[in-house]
Amino acid sequence: MKKISADAAKYSDTVRLPFRLGAGFPDAVPVIRSDRKTVSLELKRDGTILIRAPRRMSETKIREFLSKREDWLRAHLAKQQLIGAEGSDRLTEEEINALFRDAVVDLPARVRRFAPLVGVSYGRITIRNQRTRWGSCSAAGNLNFNCLLILAPEEARDYVVIHELCHRIEMNHSARFWAEVARVCPGYRKQRKWFREHGPALTKRMFG
Ligand SMILES: [Zn+2]
Repeated sequence: MKKISADAAKYSDTVRLPFRLGAGFPDAVPVIRSDRKTVSLELKRDGTILIRAPRRMSETKIREFLSKREDWLRAHLAKQQLIGAEGSDRLTEEEINALFRDAVVDLPARVRRFAPLVGVSYGRITIRNQRTRWGSCSAAGNLNFNCLLILAPEEARDYVVIHELCHRIEMNHSARFWAEVARVCPGYRKQRKWFREHGPALTKRMFG
């Protein structure tokens, strides 16, 4: 408790975010300055954003740093919003475009990472805006992923990627298929549960 109040005393200033996060989020965030050498961005469980910075770092430099962390921050806040009161907001066109922009980078990167672990090849990767599916895999090995996956936690995204890649081995949901999924993603049951619990809320944000 003592530690927290000591920290609070060091809230020396705030920095305006170089981007707008949307309704319900502040335009400026607190900066705690100390003798540290580097700047860092912290996102607390309640959605509070906090910056830790060297004493003499300029606001411009901090804003430059924040610009680079925009996608990270958006993804994490979006994830947290699911449990927050504002989590049911319909996504705006701008937000949907941002999801696509992130998805075309993020999901293929995960495919590249996990394909060798599953031990399979794949064809084209397409990002879609789908109501009913998180991913799919064609007989030719072409992969489709739902852009809403960007709003899911990283482990849940990994699971969907691994799931679809495992269809390159087993084009069904047999025990052999699930054994393959479990080999690469031992915690897959937890991720399936996440989609059962939070999936409908995600879909609702896109389709109402
Ligand atoms: Zn499947």
